[in-house]
Amino acid sequence: MNEVKIGWVGLGTMGMPMAKQLMKAGYLVSAYNRSQEKVNALVLQGAHEALSPEELLRNTDVIFVMVSDDVAIQEIFGGNEGLLKAHVSGKIIVNMSTVSPKISEKLAILCQNQGNSYLDAPVSGSVKQALDGQLVIMVGGDETVYEKIKPILEHLGKLSLWIGSNGAGNRAKLAMNTLLGLYAQGLAESVLFANSKGIRTEDLMALINNSALGNVFTRIKGDAIMAEDYQAAFALKHIAKDLRLAKAEGMSGRLAKVSYDTFQKAEAEFGQEDIIAVLKYSQKADKI
Ligand code: NAP
Repeated sequence: MNEVKIGWVGLGTMGMPMAKQLMKAGYLVSAYNRSQEKVNALVLQGAHEALSPEELLRNTDVIFVMVSDDVAIQEIFGGNEGLLKAHVSGKIIVNMSTVSPKISEKLAILCQNQGNSYLDAPVSGSVKQALDGQLVIMVGGDETVYEKIKPILEHLGKLSLWIGSNGAGNRAKLAMNTLLGLYAQGLAESVLFANSKGIRTEDLMALINNSALGNVFTRIKGDAIMAEDYQAAFALKHIAKDLRLAKAEGMSGRLAKVSYDTFQKAEAEFGQEDIIAVLKYSQKADKI
């Protein structure tokens, strides 16, 4: 059993498999989630339950947070029983959620005033990579703090990289997800165009995946399109959020503008489905 006590906040699509990875690696994990039933599922596998983020911070050493967005982060840190309410110091809080760089910069200062350290450490990769401990992790904050938790991150990802001061991890993540939005929309439109010309999706995907254009994303999402499986691995609402964050950070590229517009419009109908449901949106809106 590893001696560092881990706290985990947020047992959603990504948080649950990531927390399980650390349990598998022998860490004692205590968990908090807004909806109780998800914690119960982890307790059955040996985790401890925390009734609030504040309690979690008191009883653990390194606390990971994996929740939806800035609103959720405000609740987890600043709520009545939030992390910032705990009168404890010497803890390391690692925020792996994709949130705004500005909120990370602010929280880093508040955590420092509390006597604790804050790192932003968002991830690239989805459920499969989380289940396999193969995420890519980009870190912002004090490099010496990052070095301390690097051995823990090695159980979650195949690569963790220190990028710069607080907020730098979030900015790197927004750059990556700008590309992700373009990949998803590009794949969707290619498939729709091919279909409109009588080319079967399986044939197009065989061509793409055996060419220089094929990658893990086209393989996973190509399979999903063929199976008509749009259940969220990475919810479309999350890429819509990430493109808003990139825009707020000044992203003004031509393609990024189109991608922003597409996903903001697609969100109302397809936000709860997977990012690749952009195909259904394009089919409907653009009649490709
Ligand atoms: P998710 O399945 O939607 O889970 C969201 C988590 O946040 C749940 O634990 C949820 O609690 C919690 N939450 C939401 N609003 C809250 C609030 N106001 N107060 C407290 N807790 C709240 O999301 P996910 O797919 O795991 O993604 C988590 C983060 O990772 C997001 O920032 C996302 O952009 C990023 N990300 C996702 C993927 C992916 O492939 N899914 C990949 C890379 C990065 P409840 O259970 O109570 O709803």
